Amino acid sequence: MADRVKFEDGEAWVTIDMDLCAGIAACVDVCPVECYKLVDGKVNADRIGECIECLACENICPEEAILEHFAW
Ligand code: SF4
Ligand code: SF4
Repeated sequence: MADRVKFEDGEAWVTIDMDLCAGIAACVDVCPVECYKLVDGKVNADRIGECIECLACENICPEEAILEHFAW
């Protein structure tokens, strides 16, 4: 059962499958505007409102945990 969590700020939002997220922080490291951080070993995207739509996070996540991502 997927544990999909939605983070949103204005028109920007992302959903992340917390069952798949392995907390390896690749998305944290790759995001140029620091949208992500780790909280208790899982990703948190409370700063998704800063997103510039580069899609680097989706592309780098080896677990494909970042399922949907829209900032437009
Ligand atoms: S890159 Fe994927 S698995 Fe790693 S912390 Fe980010 S969402 Fe989780
Ligand atoms: S799309 Fe780019 S700017 Fe937006 S959260 Fe992902 S890595 Fe950060």
